[in-house]
Amino acid sequence: MYLYIGIDDTDSKDGMCTTYICSVIIDELKYFGFEVIGYPRLIRLNPFARFKTRGNGALSFKLNLESKNYVKKVKEIVLKKVEKLSELEDDRTNPGVVFYCGEITEELKSYSLNVIRNIIKIEDAERFADKIGAEYYKFKKGRGIIGALAAIGCPDDDKTYELLTYRLPENYGKNRKIDYESVFEMNRATYPETFDNVDADNSYIAIEPHTPCPILYGIRGESPEAVKEAKKIVKVCEQIEKYAIFETNQHTDMHLVKADKINDLVQFKCYIVEGEVKDFPYTREGGHVIFILKDDTGEIPCAAYEPTKEFRDIARKLAPGDKLHVYGGIGEKGTLNIEKFEILELAKIYKTKNPLCECGKRMKSAGSGKGYKCVKCGVKLREGIKDAIEIKRDIEKGFYEVPPSARRHLSKPLIRS
Ligand code: ATP
Repeated sequence: MYLYIGIDDTDSKDGMCTTYICSVIIDELKYFGFEVIGYPRLIRLNPFARFKTRGNGALSFKLNLESKNYVKKVKEIVLKKVEKLSELEDDRTNPGVVFYCGEITEELKSYSLNVIRNIIKIEDAERFADKIGAEYYKFKKGRGIIGALAAIGCPDDDKTYELLTYRLPENYGKNRKIDYESVFEMNRATYPETFDNVDADNSYIAIEPHTPCPILYGIRGESPEAVKEAKKIVKVCEQIEKYAIFETNQHTDMHLVKADKINDLVQFKCYIVEGEVKDFPYTREGGHVIFILKDDTGEIPCAAYEPTKEFRDIARKLAPGDKLHVYGGIGEKGTLNIEKFEILELAKIYKTKNPLCECGKRMKSAGSGKGYKCVKCGVKLREGIKDAIEIKRDIEKGFYEVPPSARRHLSKPLIRS
């Protein structure tokens, strides 16, 4: 019989990581003779969930048990470890563990998609778990059961892999000792089978977390083989305690919902929405580039925030009338945070110039309200009409995306399209 186990909300901003707890549990289960089938799963949920610590990830894995009698022992191992390793003293840490024996039904998949695309309540998760006969364990408020159940049921039509290496506990919180040049070398050797691990344009390596968690680095890729190969190339100057490979829904665009119209957009959800650029983009304090997207039903401000770096230069090239598909999510401020956009149609834009004189010379203004005069031949025009000259657009139709350093976990890079 198959037993699915989901775990979430064990860590805090000050430490720990649910992927690490999951790896420790898997090692312990192995010690007792319980082997995981396939890879454990790291499932990213709604990026705007209010109580997330960082990347809103939940974990699950699957065991093949010879007999029902082993379920009790497995539960005991899992729950003991979650209790021991979770950051329970932190108010915001509310672990949840779910055990489920059964099929991954369409109903369960849609529950997961709902957690990835919407915001739900703990009671909704409880009600659904009761309905499908999943058993849940709540530590403190037990909010983690929302994600734990979603991690079990998440569809896997599209998936990627992440290899995570873990540090020795005595190194937690200290500077990570990663040989950056070897990371660029790994990227050159394995891209695009691995992706989003460096941001060459910004000389940035994207594999290193910037929190005191147990992870030393994480490599993203298309297959377990690719990330294993990449690990061989990355050099580090500190001991790796262990590593684990996770199957994930990262970089699949699973969080995006196609919106029919701008008026339908709701805060804290992520969309693909079509519209027309209303005015020229402007740069707000802090270096954020904003433009308004409109359709017949309404309008929404779209933002290329400062961390999206050179992507902002592309956004600045948009002009009124350009038709776009914008991919992104609506955050705290009600702005659509752009992950990427496709330019469907480019509008013609013009600049105006004084009229041409019969002699071929462009005329000068004769003063306010006095028309134009030609400085070459002296001709005057009382009411000349300015010429509209089309400006060549410095951007083409097609897709544009934020750099890897600004990519959301769920956002699909163009290289994967
Ligand atoms: P890390 O990435 O470091 O593991 P995290 O960012 O995943 O941390 P958690 O500590 O797991 O954050 O906390 C997120 C909490 O929000 C969990 O309790 C999870 O069940 C809950 N949650 C996740 N998605 C939703 C959602 N769509 N609606 C309501 N609650 C959610």
